[in-house]
Order: sequence, then C-alpha cells, then structure tokens
Amino acid sequence: MNYFAYKGKELFCEDMRIADLAATYGTPLYIYSAATIKRHFSAFDTAFNGLKHLTCFSVKANSNIHIIETMGKMGGGVDIVSGGELYRSLKAGIPPEKIVYSGVGKRTNEIREALTANILMFNVESLAELERISEIAQDMGKIARVSFRINPNVDPKTHPYISTGMKKNKFGLDVTHSRIAYKRAMELPAIEPIGIDCHIGSQLTTIEPFLEALDKLLDFMDELQKMGIHISYLDLGGGLGIQYDEEEPPQPEEFGKALTEKLKHLDITVIFEPGRVIVGNTGVLVTEVLYTKQTPSKNFLIVDAAMNDLIRPALYQSFHRITPATITGRETMNVDVVGPICESSDFLARDRDLPAMKQGELLVAHSAGAYGFTMSSNYNSRTRAAEVLVEGDQAKIIRRRETYDDLIGPELV
Ligand SMILES: *Cc1c(COP(=O)(O)O)cnc(C)c1O
Repeated sequence: MNYFAYKGKELFCEDMRIADLAATYGTPLYIYSAATIKRHFSAFDTAFNGLKHLTCFSVKANSNIHIIETMGKMGGGVDIVSGGELYRSLKAGIPPEKIVYSGVGKRTNEIREALTANILMFNVESLAELERISEIAQDMGKIARVSFRINPNVDPKTHPYISTGMKKNKFGLDVTHSRIAYKRAMELPAIEPIGIDCHIGSQLTTIEPFLEALDKLLDFMDELQKMGIHISYLDLGGGLGIQYDEEEPPQPEEFGKALTEKLKHLDITVIFEPGRVIVGNTGVLVTEVLYTKQTPSKNFLIVDAAMNDLIRPALYQSFHRITPATITGRETMNVDVVGPICESSDFLARDRDLPAMKQGELLVAHSAGAYGFTMSSNYNSRTRAAEVLVEGDQAKIIRRRETYDDLIGPELV
C-alpha cells in the first residue's frame, strides 16, 4: 500500500501532482512519499511486537539523511556497510546504540570510526576481520561488541547478484569457521561476542528460506550455549521482497507471525535489517520524453533519465513499472524506454506496451525508492537527479540537483 495514485487523469504523490513537481524541480527527479515511508516502517516494525526487537534500516537502500532521519524518529536504528554510511547516520541523529555494521571489507579507519562512535556491534564476516577489529579496539582501549555473520548455505531463490547466503558467496562464515571464530573471540580481551547474524539475500518472495536459515542459526546457538557463549542478539538481516511487477511477496505481518512462533520462548533481542521492503515502493523516478524514434524493428522512447540515475534494469534485468504522469487514453505502442547514455544496456524498460507518448511528456518509473538514487553515478558526466520528499500537500527538496561545478570540483586539485 502506497500513496502514489491517479486522481482523475493525473498521477499524484500524496496530495501533490507529479507533473507539478516535475515542473518545479525539473527532471529526472526522484520523488518520495513520507506517509508511505512511515506506513511501511511501522507495518514492518509492529509485525514483531511479540518479540524484543530492533529494526535497523539498511542505509544502502536509500541513504539520504532526511530519509534516515525519518526512520530514526520512528525509533529505528540502522544497518551500515561503510564509514560513509556511519557518518550519514550519525548526522541524521541515529543513536549509536542502534547501529550495526555489516560488510566483508571494513577498512581500518572505518573500524576506528565505528569504535569511536561506540556503535552497538560489528557483524564480522571473517577471522581476519576479527583479528583486525581486536587489534584496533585494544589499541584504542575499547571493547568491540561483535556478531558473526553465518553463511547458512540456503538458496534464497532470487537474482544471483543479490543472493548472499550460499556457500559460493563471499559473505559470512560457514559453520566450521564460525565455531573457530567464537572460540577465538572468547580469547580476545578487546572482543565481546554478543550476537549471531545472517543475511541471505535480497528481494525474497517467500519466507521459507528465512525460516530455513533461522533453524540453522538456532541449532548453532544451542551449540554456542554448550560452549559457554551466551548470545543476546539474533540478527536476521534484511531481504524481504516487494512487488515490482506480478510477484506476491509475503507481508511483514506473515513474516512476523512465523518468526514470533519460533522465537518467543528465547530471551534474546532480534535485529532486522530491512531496506527494500521499507523504501522500495515509497519512491518514483520521473523522466521527460526527449525524443521518439522509430527504427525498422523497434520504437524507442528516449527519456532524460538513464542508467546512471537508475541502474537496476541494466544491472539485474529488473522490472520497473512505467506509467505516464498524465493519462491520455491514446493507443498503446510496444516501446523500449531508453536513456541518453552511450551503452546498449542503458534502458529503463524493454518491449513494454505504453500509451503513445509525445516529446516533452512525462513518464514515471515506479518502485524506485530502494537502490535507485543510492546506486546512481555521474557516468557520461551527467549530474545526478534531485530528490524531493512529499508530505501531504507539501514538498521539500532533500537533495538538490547537482551542478557542473559539482562534477569537476574534486578534480580541481
Ligand atoms: C543489503 C543488505 C540488507 C538490506 O537488504 P534488503 O533486501 O534491501 O532488505 C541488510 N543487511 C545486509 C547485511 C545487507 O547487505
């Protein structure tokens, strides 16, 4: 359920007409609905009310500080994967005791920054990383709280690029290495192992893989208990999918029920790291049709948004629903919606039936709130899009459109 809907012939975000926002702020333009963000956060968070839990929004899905701040105001923490995300999250007012730090390649300076901030814990992904965190913590006179990220070897049945919990993936530790890691952690004076973690992938459309992973983690927790290691935090990562097209992912409520059943008897705090399921359907990317072009085999709509603005179709062959900002009632045509970039992978949609569009008219790519702007780049020296947050009949710019000076600024050395 989101607050992007047609009223008459016009697409609205809450009470603001998309076409008016495009006229005011230009295109390409990311538009987010604050009411939808709040609704999705709250639907997710309350699904686990039967458990002691902490919802840590995965910053990489949408790292605008105003969006992070919205999560924080609702009591959320964050899951970060870099020093940059730590910096943003602290600026957005997220309390350090609600920050967990994941990722296979944490740098020395990033570990130092996280220890200085006194975050809740590191999700450690290798023995070498454990040793490094230990050395740095010792050097700083700090204790580092850690979880180990277990790779449960479960197939999440999603796109291979966003599958992370199979043994061929670079993520986490298999059970054998996890045993070694916890034993070693007990020996290290500057390390306190307090949790166990997994994140098996993204855009999961069934709950079975989560439950399968959870069973493996629970078995392993029993084993740790016997080794005398007490676990206070169980982090189940993110990964719940959303509807882009026809898929029917489970609702958070269903996920909540299944997990509560399995976990309610345990004295433990459960951590979740949702990204996409919170913000995916809270944002759209609005783009203007620059040209229409017919070739003997194809009809192209050449638009002003490109793979540098929204890379998901090029990177994962993913589907974004595309609709006109204004309904015209014209006949549909089969088209490719493509951007100006010099790559054939630069498309937002292929072989899509859309009402005939004219130059200057607006198209909207839906479900662009997660891994949209955060994956954008300056490729082809394109300035990155502006971002606008709508709340009722108010819109505020939360990231201004980049300028040419922004492009070359770092090069003026
Ligand atoms: C990307 C990521 C998430 C969020 O995944 P979603 O599919 O967006 O929910 C959570 N945890 C970790 C460790 C991640 O890498």
